[in-house]
Formats: sequence, C-alpha cells, structure tokens
Amino acid sequence: MDFETTFIAQVITVIGFAVGLSIVVASGRYPRHIRNSLRAYAYGKFLVGLGFLVAGLRGGLAPDLLVPLANGLGIAGLSMNYTSVRHLQNRPAPPLAPLAVGLAVGLVSALLLLSGGGIASIRILVSFTTAAMLLVIAFEVLVRYEGRGIPHYVTGILCASLAVAYLVRMGAGVTQGEAPTAYMLDDGVERLTFLLTLLGTVVGAINYVLMASDEFNRELAKLAHTDGLTGSLNRRRLFELGEVEFRRARRHGRDLTVLVLDIDRFKAVNDRAGHPFGDRVIQAVADCCAAQIRSEDSVGRIGGEEFAILLPETGVEAGRLLAERLRSAIERQLAQLGAEAGVTVTCSIGGVSLTREHSEFSDLMAQSDSALYDAKHAGRNQVRFYPAVALTPALHA
Ligand code: GH3
Ligand code: MG
Ligand code: MG
Repeated sequence: MDFETTFIAQVITVIGFAVGLSIVVASGRYPRHIRNSLRAYAYGKFLVGLGFLVAGLRGGLAPDLLVPLANGLGIAGLSMNYTSVRHLQNRPAPPLAPLAVGLAVGLVSALLLLSGGGIASIRILVSFTTAAMLLVIAFEVLVRYEGRGIPHYVTGILCASLAVAYLVRMGAGVTQGEAPTAYMLDDGVERLTFLLTLLGTVVGAINYVLMASDEFNRELAKLAHTDGLTGSLNRRRLFELGEVEFRRARRHGRDLTVLVLDIDRFKAVNDRAGHPFGDRVIQAVADCCAAQIRSEDSVGRIGGEEFAILLPETGVEAGRLLAERLRSAIERQLAQLGAEAGVTVTCSIGGVSLTREHSEFSDLMAQSDSALYDAKHAGRNQVRFYPAVALTPALHA
C-alpha cells in the first residue's frame, strides 16, 4: 500500500474528530477531575485534527500562513494530551499553557518562513517540539503516575516510540534539500511518521480511555471503602484489611497490634451540645487518629463513636506508647472544641498485640474490646491492653 501524506493527514483529521467527539459525549457521566481530563483530551484531538486538516489544505493556498497555523494547532493539541494526563491525577497544568506552546511554535514557524529559513527548518523545529512533548507525556505516565497499570505502560511506550519517529523526521529535515513550501512533503520519512501518528492516535485514545476508566474505578473503590462522616476507612474495609494484616503477620512471624478507641460519655456530649456538634467531635477524633499514625497503619470508624486502628510491625510496647500518645493528643487537642459547648472530650482505648494463641483476626478484635471495657470500668480516659497486667510476684511478697 502506498498512501500519499495528504491522504494520511486527512484520515488523522477524521479519526481525531471522531475520537474527540466520542470522548466529549462520554465525559458527562464521570466525576469532575476525570471529566475535565477527558474533555482536555478531546479538545486536544480536535486541535490536532484541525492541524492536519489545515496541513492537507495547503496545495497552492497561502502556505506562509497555513504552515505555521497547522503546526501551531498540532502542537497545542499534543500539549492538551499532556494537560489531560495531569488532570487525571488531580494535578492540573495551567489551562492556557497548551495554547501558549502552540502559539509559540506557530509564531516561530512564521518567522522562519518569513526570514527565508525554508520548510526544512520548520520540519526540524516541529519534529523536535513534538518529540519533546511526547517524551514529557511518556515521563508523566511511566514515572510520575501513581497507580500505573497496563494502559499507562502502553501509552508511555507508544509516546516514546513516536518521539523516536519524530526525531528521525527531524534528522531527515537536517539532511534534506529544500522542498517546495506550497505542498506537503511526500517522502518515505514523512509517510512513515504520519502513518505512525495515525496509529498513535487510535491506540493512544483507546489506552487513554482505559487510563481514565482505571482512575474512575479507583475512585469508586475509595468511596466504597470510606466512611462518609470522617473520611476514615469504613467498618467493612477495616475488617478486610485486618484479616489481610493478621494473615501476613502470622505467616511471617511479624508483630501486629490492634487498638479500639471509644469516645467517653458521648451520649452526654450529644445531649448537651446537639447531634451536629457530636458529629464535629467524631470528625476531630478521626483527624487526631489520622495525624498520629504512620502511613502503613490504618484507622477505621467501626461504630458511631468507635474507631479501630491496625498497627502492623508494632509490638506491645510500641503499641502502648502510641495508644497513650493518641489518648493524650485527643484530650489536649479537643479541649478547645469541647469548651465551645461546655463539655470535656476524652476517649478510652483498648489494645492487644498478636501472639501465637490468636488464630483469627476476630480474636484480636474481641480482646481489644475487652481491654476497652476494662479502660471504661477503670474510670475512662485511659489505655488498657489485653491481657490485663497481673500483679508481679514481687508486689505480692
Ligand atoms: P461510654 O463512655 O461508656 O462509651 O459512654 P457513651 O455515652 O459514649 O456510650 P455509648 O457508646 O453507648 O454511646 C454512643 C452514643 O453515640 C450513642 C449515639 O447517640 C451516639 N452516636 C452514634 N453515632 C453517632 C453519630 O454518627 N453522630 C453523633 N453525633 N452521635 C452518634
Ligand atoms: Mg460506643
Ligand atoms: Mg462511648
């Protein structure tokens, strides 16, 4: 098969418009940052499509105007693909940056033509800029993207391969003799680069949509795992993670400590200050817990004003220290909030550390509950661990 570059450019236009339109239509059903990302991608496809349309128009018609315009549009469109990847990760790039890049490339192209630089110099400039943009996108999805999957790797490798093709095109621009400006070049390098661009448009769009769908699934999973009031894990997720941590600690002989925390006399807080104030207290306690734990620990709201905390790689001594630190942080940090409503907010904490006797995660939960019960009975606002510490023989003597 032997297609002219003009024909390939027209196919890229049609595919770009079709992809852009489909993505705009589909974007409406996604949450905001994914929708913004999809739209940025679609607008990028429209710009690239328009760029190739203008490029294909140029036989005889004002090439000094059309060449810079086509290149500016193409580069602006490619920059929007970069913007869309940033949106997906909730790290939006400045919204006007793609237009600024496109405008800069368009203007420099126009200056090159006006100063007699010829079409080869524009081929070098645009190929270099395209390759650079593609490499930036490849870096973004292959290195910086958190939670990468197969579509990210395909996109990254595709962009890097296309960048190589454009660098080859740039090399051809360096060595080529001057070609007529009025028509599109139709040499082997140009055809191959355009064919690869067409392939990249289709494969890239499919993988980009898969990336957006991965992001959406991650968001749904996060919602399904999160407690709406506090942003902590919900009960189901905390227990799921507890089972996982329990099995891991048992299998590898590692430490694991579980804490259960319950706000003291919370009924009285609600009765005195009202339910909405009670909710603020619950949120503040959750924030305190989140601030005190390490990233590998987990905190979940397992009941109305009750939280459980999983502390992997934490033995009984470190677990006690953390529980005490948390108890006193809550007492201290909630003093001001409590004073607003004339109440004192404290909590009691029960804990247990994994031993050979434990055969299921539910054993740990039951025993930390029992330790919490001890803390409540001993007067509240304190930490107790299971088993209750026996008096040493020395003390009995
Ligand atoms: P104790 O020191 O023994 O724990 O006393 P308590 O009053 O905290 O006792 P209990 O744990 O039985 O009471 C929990 C109260 O928490 C009962 C319920 O009205 C309240 N509660 C449960 N869920 C919520 C919630 O989402 N928001 C608010 N504001 N209150 C809640
Ligand atoms: Mg309770
Ligand atoms: Mg309580």
